[in-house]
Amino acid sequence: MPVTGTRTVYLQTFGCQMNELDSELVRGQLAALGYSFTPDADAADVVLYNTCSVREQAENKVLSRVGKIGIRKREGARVVLGLIGCLAEREGTALLRRFPQIDLLCGPGELDRLPMLIDNALKTETVEAADRVALAGNRSRRTATLAAAADNLELLDLSRAFDPDGGGSGGSGGTGGPRRSAYVRITRGCNKFCTYCVVPFTRGAEVHRPPDAIVLECRRLADGGVVEITLLGQTVNHYLYTHGVAMGVNGQEVPQVGPGGSAFTRSGGPRGANGRRVTTFADLLGRIHEEVPSLQRLRFVTCYTRDFGDDILRVMRDCPRICRYLHVPVQSGSDRILRLMNRGYTSGEYLEFIDRARDLLPDVSIAGDVIVGFPTETEHDFGQTADLLGRVRFKNNFIFKYSPRPGTTAWDRLPDDVPTDVKRRRNNDLLALQAGISAAVHAEQVGRTVEVFVEGVSRKGASRAAGRVELGWERPRGRIQMSGRTAGDLITVFDLPQDGKPEMLQGRIVPVRVLRASALVLFGRLEAATLPPAKQPAAVHRARPSSGITQLEIS
Ligand code: SAM
Ligand code: SF4
Repeated sequence: MPVTGTRTVYLQTFGCQMNELDSELVRGQLAALGYSFTPDADAADVVLYNTCSVREQAENKVLSRVGKIGIRKREGARVVLGLIGCLAEREGTALLRRFPQIDLLCGPGELDRLPMLIDNALKTETVEAADRVALAGNRSRRTATLAAAADNLELLDLSRAFDPDGGGSGGSGGTGGPRRSAYVRITRGCNKFCTYCVVPFTRGAEVHRPPDAIVLECRRLADGGVVEITLLGQTVNHYLYTHGVAMGVNGQEVPQVGPGGSAFTRSGGPRGANGRRVTTFADLLGRIHEEVPSLQRLRFVTCYTRDFGDDILRVMRDCPRICRYLHVPVQSGSDRILRLMNRGYTSGEYLEFIDRARDLLPDVSIAGDVIVGFPTETEHDFGQTADLLGRVRFKNNFIFKYSPRPGTTAWDRLPDDVPTDVKRRRNNDLLALQAGISAAVHAEQVGRTVEVFVEGVSRKGASRAAGRVELGWERPRGRIQMSGRTAGDLITVFDLPQDGKPEMLQGRIVPVRVLRASALVLFGRLEAATLPPAKQPAAVHRARPSSGITQLEIS
């Protein structure tokens, strides 16, 4: 295929927030090179799937699309098909043998090389396979030294061209209308090696970005009108940057590998680093709060129970614009299963953390993740998980059936011995239990006024899956319902006033009186007598429309 004119790209994202952010960076990178984007895969010159490998189901979704493109190609369609992200990294070149319709592969650690791969694939179909593949492979754990300066991904993050008209990333509400939320990566990769998880293999070793770069990125986003920033890392509380050891040629600090669990005391605080100055996660939060005063909301995911110090909780308590929301996956309530998972904490330690968090932040909202049917899980183990859900009173839980992942320790050493129907039943039982808990947690908000960050018009007869429970509210005929989230991440819907237009509210934080609640949604009424003025007061930012080109599919 010769390289002429503007090439169009269709990009679809599967998986987690990290993938959403990667897709945003890919889009910025390709747009700067003159590519345009289309929401229609059939009309694109280049189809890119940003893939997830955390569960088999996520992989199957992508592979069925790959199969369909194979049929189109056999019928004569001239399209470049690229797989980027975790599936590409995990399966590697075996994918090219299995699916010859795939033209290029790019792992999440090599995204800066994607334009070159696309260019090669567009120029000629005869380019060697080696020139259409960029994978970290066994180099993914190469960063054994403190400095990770050779990490070109940092350049990709730094060169981020956030387009306030392009919708950015983050948030998940509404129907693709304007949004003013963004993700900012603080840590890449993971060093924990939970026995079920592919992430350390697909995303490599834990690398921490320099705090100055993170603060600068947050400031730029807020100056561009972003209302809410979510900091991203697999275990954000393990963020720890040691100053003065990893410098780039221009004298600026560069990313560095994570220090490992021994850098934290049992109570969660970081140990001294041979007298060197460090920036902890608590310091980082405090800096962003102080140095980016125009930012309305700061949140972060994902937390790791172990090493979550009171210093972080105190910063959350003392900084009003940091959301009192913690996503702290527990995975299981059984100590035996937690040990087999290599999680590094007991259920008692998890509960101790929750108590500590609620002592310091009585109104904190807590979400979690649970895996059912992990190898050897008995009814007794499962019962302990159910008990723990009742104790913690999560606002919601993402409940997953264990999915054996090639390359992980569990895949190698622990037969997947819980039958599928038992996994399904335990999954359904926990969903039902959690639905009751969520309903009670949401009901506590009735009668209160909550601050809602308006994400968009709520989907028609919305049936957005959350933890695989259907939300199931119906939009009353003739009325427009808006959808957003509270600081505690509770989805809230309310009617647009008769004289209002969605874009007058989208991207703003507005007061909503909660009238009733279901297990997953608060229903309310806009408190303000009038719609916010077009000119923003200091506390409110106006959103601009999203192009809605990157399609998100969260599994
Ligand atoms: N770093 C986060 C943590 O430590 O909790 C989680 C990141 S992981 C990408 C997201 C969630 O996927 C996990 O919390 C876990 O519940 C689920 N998950 C990961 N591997 C899985 C597997 N093999 N089978 C089922 N669920 C899995
Ligand atoms: Fe996976 Fe465990 Fe790392 Fe989370 S902490 S990304 S579950 S290995």
